[in-house]
Amino acid sequence: MDQNFDRAISPLLDLSDVPAFDQITADSVEPALNRALTYGRETIANVLQDNQPTDFEHVVAPLEIMGHRLERVWAPVSHLNAVKNSDDLRDVYNRCLEKLTQYWSEVGQNQELYKAYLKIRDEQHNLDPAQQRLLDLAVINFELEGVGLADEQRREYADIKIELSALQSKFEENVLDCSNAWSFHTEDKSRLGGIPENALNRAAGEAVQRKLDGWCFTLDFPTYNAVMSHASDSTLRKLFHDAWVTRASTAGDHDPKYDNTPVIEQILPLRQQAAELLGYADYAEYSLARKMAESGSEVEAFLRDLAARSKNAALRELADLENLAGTRLQPWDISYYSERLREARFEISDELLRPYFPLEKALAGLFSIAERIFAISIREIPPVHAWHDDVRMYQIDGPDGQRAGRFYTDLFARQKKRGGAWMGECVGHNRLDNPGGAAVAFLVCNFMPADADKPALLTHDEIVTLFHEFGHTLHMLLSKVPYPGVAGINGVPWDAVELPSQFMENFAWQKETLPLISGHYESGEPIPGDMVDRLLGSRTFNAGLQSLRQIEFALFDMRIHREHKSGVSFTTILDDVRKEIAVIPGAANNRFANAFSHVFAGGYAAGYYSYKWAEVLSADAFSAFEETAILDDDTGNRFRSSVLERGGAVDAMTAFTEFRGRAPTIDALVRHNGLNQP
Ligand SMILES: [Zn+2]
Repeated sequence: MDQNFDRAISPLLDLSDVPAFDQITADSVEPALNRALTYGRETIANVLQDNQPTDFEHVVAPLEIMGHRLERVWAPVSHLNAVKNSDDLRDVYNRCLEKLTQYWSEVGQNQELYKAYLKIRDEQHNLDPAQQRLLDLAVINFELEGVGLADEQRREYADIKIELSALQSKFEENVLDCSNAWSFHTEDKSRLGGIPENALNRAAGEAVQRKLDGWCFTLDFPTYNAVMSHASDSTLRKLFHDAWVTRASTAGDHDPKYDNTPVIEQILPLRQQAAELLGYADYAEYSLARKMAESGSEVEAFLRDLAARSKNAALRELADLENLAGTRLQPWDISYYSERLREARFEISDELLRPYFPLEKALAGLFSIAERIFAISIREIPPVHAWHDDVRMYQIDGPDGQRAGRFYTDLFARQKKRGGAWMGECVGHNRLDNPGGAAVAFLVCNFMPADADKPALLTHDEIVTLFHEFGHTLHMLLSKVPYPGVAGINGVPWDAVELPSQFMENFAWQKETLPLISGHYESGEPIPGDMVDRLLGSRTFNAGLQSLRQIEFALFDMRIHREHKSGVSFTTILDDVRKEIAVIPGAANNRFANAFSHVFAGGYAAGYYSYKWAEVLSADAFSAFEETAILDDDTGNRFRSSVLERGGAVDAMTAFTEFRGRAPTIDALVRHNGLNQP
């Protein structure tokens, strides 16, 4: 597949520059993918021919290029599916995604290929460290597909994976269906005191839809959160709390057909069996094989250490809430009194701050911060093949003045665009057969657009989001690694991939940087000093309680996956973990595990600790700037060369240690969260 060879089949096969988003139609997707998969299969057949030498150049390099090209063909499809969805595109996307998944599992289970990689890893002695790392990761990936197993075990492993995937979907469906089946209807407005206008409007609209008078509340998160944070009637909060914490269980009044207890009791032993088949002691060990953390006991020790350091702050925060309430608090009172205390203490609302954060100013400030600390330059260029009028494009030049990469921004909410914010790969790195080729990224958000009399204005939360996604963008684009599989964010372990993004967030919270990213959209005036103090003060609000809550989830997740083999039930572990960690007594009917989709339906199994783990890294990395200067370019250059430019080509601990001059410590996170105050 030459760079332009198949242009006639589909615009997606033109790999000469960025994808031609403005020419891609739903009809152009499947022919392109079919052609790309044929090319992929031909590549594999070629490298495995008898006359081919088994070395990096003849086996790994062609496969790296193949993976890179397949990703180039597919990336614009999944991007358009997310930002410019249509029924046609969604159909073809789902159909093709299945083919692609099937193809990659075929590659992962190719025994000849696996043996070739093993041979190269063990016998080729002139590999550079990035090549070695690439091979180590590839071999683990093959092995996690079960390729190293004898026939019978391999079939057993494949069956377990299919069964697990069905159970995980079932888990998610039960949570969704159970939530959807629940509603609360009232015609008595006096019960709804305190609930914000937008939640009331939604409930009134829902009632109309159901041909009812009054208000009908559903059990989606925004509604639940609005009621728990603002409803002044505690019996109403208790009603919602009971419904929420008993989802997909038999502890409340939900239909027992949604009960996830039997689903969990099937998932855990199957995960254990899968892990054992591959030679791991348990599923935690299996999950950690590709992560930065070395072992389950290391993770548990880390969580317990952080819990011990969070406890005093959490008890103090709880005491503050109980002082305000004038009584002992029940689980359904915590959010409500937290919001009241936050209002009293910080008197700061999103709407008060929004006029000070025009998007243009925030972007310019963000870029100037990055330019200064990383010795790069960023300028806007005309967007090539834009898929919407909102799209803009920027080029980043590295310290050597050479183009490091480009990125698209698509920052405003609109119809047919997925919610949330993310960074995505448009064109990955590949210097194997394209030495000058620089990567291209997508930076996507869902901010409120400008209106007739105001430019686009952001909340501070949205500013933090922008910094976060820009951190991922830099990680993706500044990479200097020539091999696609370990360049950019590829090959970076799950528990370290949020380091650059969370690290960048810190720059949105500094007295030194706020003037660079803010200024009233009419007068250009800076944010008043007392407002700055309140904003910065609000960062650590209830940090102890929040920290303990995340630790409770993470420790539960790690322990069930380590201790299942000893026959301890997940409910026993849940009770145990609560006793050990929580300062707020849980309600007796709380069955949060039954709706813990991250771990039972998603990819966070024995990995939920990653959130806190990456926070330790990012806080500690940022503290290197606190020790010198917030915009210190020496420190910034070191971060760029040790972390951002290395991608997955070096072990995450090595990269961090090289930057920081020592292993990470928890101290900076403890300080940033205000957990160290007496
Ligand atoms: Zn992120």
